[in-house]
Amino acid sequence: MIILLGAPGSGKGTQAEKLSQDLNIPSICMGDIVRDQIKGNTPLGSQMKSYLDNGDLVPDSIINAMYKENMPDYKEPYGLLLDGFPRTINQAIYLSELYVDKKITLKVILIDVPNDFLIERLLERKRSDDTLNVIKNRLMTYQREIEPILSHYERNLLKIKGTGSIDDVFIRIKNAIKNNA
Ligand code: AMP
Repeated sequence: MIILLGAPGSGKGTQAEKLSQDLNIPSICMGDIVRDQIKGNTPLGSQMKSYLDNGDLVPDSIINAMYKENMPDYKEPYGLLLDGFPRTINQAIYLSELYVDKKITLKVILIDVPNDFLIERLLERKRSDDTLNVIKNRLMTYQREIEPILSHYERNLLKIKGTGSIDDVFIRIKNAIKNNA
């Protein structure tokens, strides 16, 4: 199982798509699941909209339940790629418990991008939650939540430099996975 970690704007989603295609493994993107619920005007979607609009995280109970509902089957040796989940230590613990019976090889990739680059990149995207104030809140939230997650995955963590072109970062990720096999 590959878990991609990184701040908003780190290129996590782009790299997740490329990796999932390249390695031919299923992926799950929690941000897309949240946006689909909001777009579909489901009761859960309307509950989640204000969190997304403000740049806050949706409560763990909702996110964990949505992960369980949407998680692809984990079949060896194909694995699974997670993008945007877990984002809090409670989600990370929940995830570990869900797969406790399976002997899973875990690779956790942190795409590391300095804050200045992140703000610049996010302002270019023009998503509804990519306004300056919301961006600042999302980055603060990320900084607050990431430390305990990194400690949780300390033994499986691969830190990748996330600046440069999409292909540069992709090659770094692939090399890190290969060298750590
Ligand atoms: P993203 O596209 O990954 O930046 O996610 C967009 C928004 O969806 C976030 O700002 C949160 O409001 C919500 N969201 C996505 N994934 C999670 C998660 N794992 N935990 C809590 N909220 C999430």
